[in-house]
Amino acid sequence: MASHIVGYPRMGPKRELKFALESFWDGKSSADDLKKVSADLRSSIWRQMADAGIKYIPSNTFSYYDQVLDTTAMLGAVPPRYGWTGGEIRFDTYFSMARGNASVPAMEMTKWFDTNYHFIVPELGPDVKFSYASHKAVDEYKEAKALGVDTVPVLVGPVSYLLLSKPAKGAEKSFSLLSLLDKILPIYKEVVAELKAAGASWIQFDEPTLVKDLESHQLQTFTSAYSQLESSLSGLNVLVETYFADIPAEAFKTLTSLKGVTGFGFDLVRGTKTLDLIKRGFPSGKYLFAGVVDGRNIWANDAAASLSILQSLEGIVGKDKVVVSTSCSLLHTAVDLVNETKLDKELKSWLAFAAQKVVEVNALAKALDGQKDEAFFSANAAAQASRKSSPRVTNEAVQKAAAALKGSDHRRATNVSARLDAQQKKLNLPILPTTTIGSFPQTMDLRRVRREFKAKKVSEDDYVKAIKQEINKVVKLQEELDIDVLVHGEPERNDMVEYFGEQLSGFAFTVNGWVQSYGSRCVKPPIIFGDVSRPKPMTVFWSSMAQSMTARPMKGMLTGPVTILNWSFVRNDQPRFETCYQIALAIKDEVEDLEKAGINVIQIDEAALREGLPLRKSEEAFYLEWAVHSFRITNCGVADTTQIHTHMCYSNFNDIIHSIIDMDADVITIENSRSDEKLLSVFREGVKYGAGIGPGVYDIHSPRIPSTEEIADRVNKMLQVLETNILWVNPDCGLKTRKYTEVKPALQNMVAATKLIRTQLSSAK
Ligand code: GLN
Ligand code: ZN
Repeated sequence: MASHIVGYPRMGPKRELKFALESFWDGKSSADDLKKVSADLRSSIWRQMADAGIKYIPSNTFSYYDQVLDTTAMLGAVPPRYGWTGGEIRFDTYFSMARGNASVPAMEMTKWFDTNYHFIVPELGPDVKFSYASHKAVDEYKEAKALGVDTVPVLVGPVSYLLLSKPAKGAEKSFSLLSLLDKILPIYKEVVAELKAAGASWIQFDEPTLVKDLESHQLQTFTSAYSQLESSLSGLNVLVETYFADIPAEAFKTLTSLKGVTGFGFDLVRGTKTLDLIKRGFPSGKYLFAGVVDGRNIWANDAAASLSILQSLEGIVGKDKVVVSTSCSLLHTAVDLVNETKLDKELKSWLAFAAQKVVEVNALAKALDGQKDEAFFSANAAAQASRKSSPRVTNEAVQKAAAALKGSDHRRATNVSARLDAQQKKLNLPILPTTTIGSFPQTMDLRRVRREFKAKKVSEDDYVKAIKQEINKVVKLQEELDIDVLVHGEPERNDMVEYFGEQLSGFAFTVNGWVQSYGSRCVKPPIIFGDVSRPKPMTVFWSSMAQSMTARPMKGMLTGPVTILNWSFVRNDQPRFETCYQIALAIKDEVEDLEKAGINVIQIDEAALREGLPLRKSEEAFYLEWAVHSFRITNCGVADTTQIHTHMCYSNFNDIIHSIIDMDADVITIENSRSDEKLLSVFREGVKYGAGIGPGVYDIHSPRIPSTEEIADRVNKMLQVLETNILWVNPDCGLKTRKYTEVKPALQNMVAATKLIRTQLSSAK
């Protein structure tokens, strides 16, 4: 039986590509240096897969920035503002589209399905002149071939490419992106012809949009696209790869009827119902690429379980027609476990990063061929068993407490308007209260002291002194600025999830478990391996210290359970909601301890709540139900007079506004100005929001300092759709990535604008 890998991480085991890119962008190294590092990474990846025995090894899954941008380059679909005049697209045009340049901003970036990877959104209008402008796919195929590795070149499929695009500015409302199909197919044909000429025998088209809820005309576009490609594809084996969810029955039918296609790839980890579709009927003579090894998580595969799935698939589609594969590109998991020096042996035995997954795929394929590597399978079985029975994983008390939450409801006893009254009596805030989202600028000194404390080079006393000094500075600054509800600035935190994960049990941290987020940026998600509990208070020390420095209310600052869950590698041995409930209980303890310590305002950030929304509409309600429930669990026990804030960093929440209201927070601060105030339209359309709300009045992602007039203008716009007594004034998000020279004047203007409007409001009475 053959083996296949959908795609592989590009960054390198120690983020070599990141450093090479950043050094090139900074002008510290040449384009040739960058190309050299990249070629070395590619060759070592190909070699590694070939050595492992993988039959279908992908090429063109490397990218200098993003595979969708690579496709835009291949098609020559460069937006005119980048001034490209034709010819092969080079680094300057390519990176200008990705990152902007001195005179033109970057193209928009958005999340790749429900992953944390971001792609560059193609901008296509009716007049784009497509041309074959990047030969990267062919070049990489040849490069591998020269190294003695025959690969499967991977292209973003033509229909998914169009479905992931957005209409260029100025395009008519009636313009349909799919109408461009006939214009892009000729380029795809050219690429295919070159690949064929170079000796390729397989080609892979990634068409992951097939797992979404598509309309029938969209599905028809797939049929039409592949019919048009059919003659160009003849003589080639063609794999159409899907991933990230169950494929809907209609899409399955469309996919498996495509002309000219020899194999179909499915995510059988997230798409367990796809198995039933396959059982009900799979076209004879075609290949099934069975994605049984999870490309989105870091757990070792349960090899015995996979083997039995694969055997049953063999019974359906025929012995030589099943290809063992990964559920999706390994881009979404960490790179190589060998570089994890700090994880203990037992925990490591439970894990598999990309490099280990390659070995797993191959071991499964060989086992099906009757060449079972007994040593591999028995070690795998032992690891699975130890994970199931380990006392590090199970905490009976937590299991019981979390189980008791299911099916029940948790809400504060009093309704929000009565609570707000009770809180106002205690807090005595002016109208349009001002606040910030939590973090203040993180200086080099601050990062250094944290790092040195962690490395035990700085004593605990000195560390506490340094952080205390920083908090004091931030508190004094906010008092000078005359902000109403203060924050301590989060100087003790490196990251809003890691900080909590490090203090909770059930979490582990890697040294090199990086996953690409966008461009050269990577995140290092914590691993939740066991039942989550909170051995002791996590923030009470710093928050009460901060409160003692001021007479104004000091916000306690926590990360919410849904965000902690969504930004971690989660357990695959229990449903996500169970893990989320466990985290919720831990945060609940923290909320209550903060309240006991005299903190009257507590913010529970849920920056990632919307990100967790499933790809399929039919699954949304269930997710939102448990996610919102988890949030309420954290604070349902506080007194009416304790004010619960939450914060979210996205604006397009209009579709889930009722779930946001159902979170029942007293105040929500939310990103607004970066996204052209789209948020406000939901209130214009008549949705009633009775709790406090602070739509951000300026974008913190940019170094620009907003003027007083501009901010006042924004606040006035908000007052047109929101009641005066519920409106708060705050920036879009935390300030940790900014400099003090930007933050001080910006906040000064924010407070000045607020005071201006307060005066206008009181004289209008
Ligand atoms: N409290 C966090 C901060 O200010 C919130 C960050 C976020 O929303 N991503 O940094
Ligand atoms: Zn935010």
